[in-house]
Amino acid sequence: MPIATIDPTDGRVQKTFDPLTDADIEERLARAVDGFAALRSASFDQRATWLRAAADILDAERDEIARTMTVEMGKTLVAAKAEVAKCAVACRYYAKHAQAFLADEPTDPAAVKARQAYVRYQPLGPVLAVMPWNFPLWQAMRFAAPALMAGNVGLLKHASNVPQTALFMEELFSRAGFPEGAFQTLLIGSDQVEAVLSDKRVVAATLTGSEGAGRSIASIAGRELKKTVLELGGSDPFVVLPSADVEKAAAVAVTARCQNNGQSCIAAKRFIVHTDVYDAFAAAFVDRMAALTVGDPMDEKTDVGPLATEQGRTDVEELVRNATDQGASVLCGGTAPDQPGWWYPPTVVADLTPDMRMYREEVFGPVAGLYRASSYEEAIAIANSTDFGLGSNVWTNDPAEQERAVNDLEAGAVFVNGMVTSYPELPFGGIKTSGYGRELSAQGIREFCNIKTVWVG
Ligand code: NDP
Repeated sequence: MPIATIDPTDGRVQKTFDPLTDADIEERLARAVDGFAALRSASFDQRATWLRAAADILDAERDEIARTMTVEMGKTLVAAKAEVAKCAVACRYYAKHAQAFLADEPTDPAAVKARQAYVRYQPLGPVLAVMPWNFPLWQAMRFAAPALMAGNVGLLKHASNVPQTALFMEELFSRAGFPEGAFQTLLIGSDQVEAVLSDKRVVAATLTGSEGAGRSIASIAGRELKKTVLELGGSDPFVVLPSADVEKAAAVAVTARCQNNGQSCIAAKRFIVHTDVYDAFAAAFVDRMAALTVGDPMDEKTDVGPLATEQGRTDVEELVRNATDQGASVLCGGTAPDQPGWWYPPTVVADLTPDMRMYREEVFGPVAGLYRASSYEEAIAIANSTDFGLGSNVWTNDPAEQERAVNDLEAGAVFVNGMVTSYPELPFGGIKTSGYGRELSAQGIREFCNIKTVWVG
């Protein structure tokens, strides 16, 4: 894949970049080691001051950064601005709370026959972050803010189609005052990742992306015995039960599916509806999906822009065709327009069966699968009949059913009567093939720490 900005609205190449050479990489790894020495010796207050300065830059330059993201991957400008704002919030959150999250944790000394015993959290060193294009600033910031506050340094290998956003990240932390080498962008292809991750100076890796990329990173890291956090795909269920507010569920379902032009790991992708409310939900959902405005992502009135890459659009088309060839019905959308760029309309597909690819695979575009369930038990069984386990949504106003679903859904998160989203305050991550480890909250910042046991006799 070339490292290039290619406008997904028309497929035109706007800017290309040469990948780093081995010598360039060597220089950056050496700088990361120096950066780590400087950052780990800086106080929490100092790191927090730098991170708050980064948040201030994000706020001040929000519109310009947002435009870069929209040009590189097609998300609406409105969504891009919200993403920049969310990154500033995350920076301030970790600037405020990191010290408390990483404070020494004393234990009862008598129980361990010590005068004093406690746990201390210490940084590990340079961490490689392999990141995707779908939330080009947020995904990288979700790693960077806690990592830098913990005293780790970051090496960002961003997706090849968002190089300008990637370069902005490095510039951001440098301008905010972080020591040289604290956060560097490596413009490299995925074929250069193995050499970087195998280097002794790189101590751990985090990846957000596809299952295939996750397996590759995990196997290299496994061979090298390095810690990894993996945030991979998802095919989140959105379960609607008879006591739900069906109109509200249908309205939220549209946002949950079509946010970010349908390209979010935590987008709801499978809509599993109890037969008692199926017809009402389907009618409201399809009407709203069909009414979305697809068009120029720079236009404030646009709901859905193009898909980010040509391959991404091809993948979506193939999944829908595979289902319709085997008897699935298209309730709206379903055909890409014949025009330049990588457009795909909001689409609802019903009558899906387990032998169709859409039943099992993640659809990374604005395509919803609609399923009818005859009971609570069948709804949960369909929801869990996937290898993924990232987020899940359930709509019910019955408190006992809410409690039951929270236990029964196999996922890293359950959102009741609302759509899955991420907050700095809550851990984020999955189970099964959606990955392992957690980002955000106190759990996230501790992932790349040495949890050191201290015993004093
Ligand atoms: P990828 O997983 O291929 O890309 C994500 C990142 O991983 C990019 O930086 C990419 O680099 C890198 N990468 C890819 N393969 C390897 C590898 N073998 N070794 C090391 N690094 C690698 O996602 P795609 O963009 O190709 O999207 C494909 C599918 O992945 C989507 O349809 C979706 O299902 C899923 N996905 C999930 C995301 C999520 O948020 N969980 C985000 C993006 C995609 P490069 O760009 O240079 O290839």
